Amino acid sequence: MKIDILTLFPGLVDVVLSESIIGRARRAGILEINVHNIRDYSEDKNRRVDDTPYGGGKGMLMAAPPVCACFDAVTKGTAREKIHTVYMSPQGKVLTQEKAKELSECENLVVLCGHYEGIDERIIEEIVDEEISIGDYVLTGGEIPACILADAVGRLVDGVLSEPECHEIESIACGLLEYPQYTRPYDFRGRLVPDILLSGNHAEIDRWRREKSLERTAAKRPDLLKN
Ligand code: SAM
Repeated sequence: MKIDILTLFPGLVDVVLSESIIGRARRAGILEINVHNIRDYSEDKNRRVDDTPYGGGKGMLMAAPPVCACFDAVTKGTAREKIHTVYMSPQGKVLTQEKAKELSECENLVVLCGHYEGIDERIIEEIVDEEISIGDYVLTGGEIPACILADAVGRLVDGVLSEPECHEIESIACGLLEYPQYTRPYDFRGRLVPDILLSGNHAEIDRWRREKSLERTAAKRPDLLKN
């Protein structure tokens, strides 16, 4: 899978997506993530990429020409129907695990990060297939949301996680919250690991985990049980 991220702050995105599991998958060539600086596509002599909004109002808007020129250069040679473009926006549908799964099946995902007051509406008309929000709050830019999207989607790509079933048994993905987990030491400040986990009885351990999973879903996210 290939993810192209279009941004005015490539350093912000690249540093996050170069570490840990996603960074390793990129270096191993399992996941291709390219970060593109929209400013490189500005034709303005001062490399400007934003301007004041028509009709007045506060703040600056990202202008259509450099964003669309960046998109054209990045997607050159790929059929438009093979590209899915997401604009990270507080106006989009809130990201879910189901949406991450759907996007992980895209061959070419383009992710556009807005900044300042947002982007010229004609960019959405011209290149955007879908707007996605990471929650009902407003951030200064789409870079952190793009990293969240790339991480949530990237970890679902075959070969990115060392054990593929990892993502199927995790909270939310399996429809419930995950059961409590423990590692060494057995006794931490008088808090002991539940004995069942040391019993070696895998059927009993599975039953205990299922019970705990249901219990904590009911306590923390009862809305999930309705589904
Ligand atoms: N004026 C815009 C509006 O009311 O819809 C908000 C602009 S926001 C300050 C700047 C940029 O941050 C947006 O273009 C978007 O890319 C990003 N952004 C902010 N909040 C976000 C969220 N909850 N989810 C995804 N992207 C977000």
